[in-house]
Amino acid sequence: MNNTKKYYFVACPICGCKRYGWDISIKDKFEEEIKITVCPNDGIIYLNPRWSKTQYIKFYKSIYDNLKRPDVQENNKPIFKNAKRVMKRILNNGFNQFNSVLDIGAGRGWMLEYIKMNKPGVETFASESSTDCKIQIENNGHNIIDLDLDLGSHKINGNKKFDLIIMRHVLEHLYQPNIALSIIKDLMHDNSVLYIAVPNVNRIKRIKGFHCAHLYYFSDINMRTLFNNIGFEVLVSGDELKSELWYILKKSDSIYKRQLDKIWRYING
Ligand SMILES: [Zn+2]
Repeated sequence: MNNTKKYYFVACPICGCKRYGWDISIKDKFEEEIKITVCPNDGIIYLNPRWSKTQYIKFYKSIYDNLKRPDVQENNKPIFKNAKRVMKRILNNGFNQFNSVLDIGAGRGWMLEYIKMNKPGVETFASESSTDCKIQIENNGHNIIDLDLDLGSHKINGNKKFDLIIMRHVLEHLYQPNIALSIIKDLMHDNSVLYIAVPNVNRIKRIKGFHCAHLYYFSDINMRTLFNNIGFEVLVSGDELKSELWYILKKSDSIYKRQLDKIWRYING
């Protein structure tokens, strides 16, 4: 790829501050120049300025998907390694009462295949951007839903809520993780459970460094601040693989609503 890309400044997803500068500029493993910013208020590391969404779509089509998508073995057998690990974390912590599952960034749909094999009758839904993967998912009998977490929109019939939502290694690619989390919250009822996993920036060597495909580099503190701001309660969390942070969450009120309630309770005695 040539180096004529334009860069755009973005606000911090946690505190909303805007910095029209960056701290460090490096060449990443794709030979792309990336500009890294650390928010002085909350310490989140993110690419700022960064490419436009159009530029990113080109990058994913021409380079990234070819490197990351071949999650099919030569004999076309599915790979259930990740699905097994995720479901173990969810089920072993007692979250087994679900009749509908949404996998966001479902890839080839192995997670949903695994769930359906082990829990027949569960309604399975996938959100996925790759056309190839979508076809495979539909052929395997799962429902595709149109969810654009970057644009802040989704086309879901009526007021559909999901008992279990899984989103692994997606948030760090999204344009606005705070908005994405708010949209996901809208897809949950009071007893829904959300499983999220992201690379842990505190293990930066093991997660293979900084590169243009990851727009955000989360630490546990960053994740908990985001959850707190938007309104999620962490039920269980872990760092078992020494490279990823994972959380099982349920909805709660946002920090804004909780603080406002405190004032009203005080006023009303
Ligand atoms: Zn900030």
